[in-house]
Amino acid sequence: MAEKKDKTLKEQFIDPVAGFGVTFRTMFKKVVTEQYPFEKLPTAPRFHGRHQLNRWPDGLEKCVGCELCAWACPADAIYVEGAGNTDEERFSPGERYGRVYQINYLRCILCGLCIEACPTRALTMTNEYELADDNRADLIYEKSDLLAPLLPGMEQPPHPMRLGDDEGAYYRGQYAAPAPGEKIGTTGEQA
Ligand code: SF4
Ligand code: SF4
Repeated sequence: MAEKKDKTLKEQFIDPVAGFGVTFRTMFKKVVTEQYPFEKLPTAPRFHGRHQLNRWPDGLEKCVGCELCAWACPADAIYVEGAGNTDEERFSPGERYGRVYQINYLRCILCGLCIEACPTRALTMTNEYELADDNRADLIYEKSDLLAPLLPGMEQPPHPMRLGDDEGAYYRGQYAAPAPGEKIGTTGEQA
């Protein structure tokens, strides 16, 4: 009978105080709440975010339209249509370029297998993670959404290869890189 009375007293007085003990202990700990989206913390450096189609230093596209990224994708999220460059209209230094390039972010699981498959490092992933939208169509990113911005010294394709004395020098980077804002000439000459 006495044991039953002790248990009742514990339940009535000690247990509720013990519960508040957790609250009091937590009040003096460092706050871990993140005020997103008002404060954005940087991601881990190798975080897999939105993709980017990269450029060579003269602005030509690194993508050669080979579709290896699309074949590597387990979610069937990439669609590529390649086309041939011509001397009059050149988008990439090689024979072909990606005429159509789409990534469907409704399907993409951001696994990174596509960037591993890319033979030219044309496709990489950024740290950008804000990919939500209010309609399905806008989550299919086109080539224009994915292409890297033109940096100083780059020129919007189509245009001829503008750096190095020949193709080998171009790919090996054996040329003086254009200074910021410098206008570059045709292959073999840097204006
Ligand atoms: S990150 Fe993965 S799922 Fe997304 S496009 Fe690349 S291979 Fe496909
Ligand atoms: S991004 Fe890379 S793998 Fe994909 S089509 Fe272009 S060159 Fe090929």
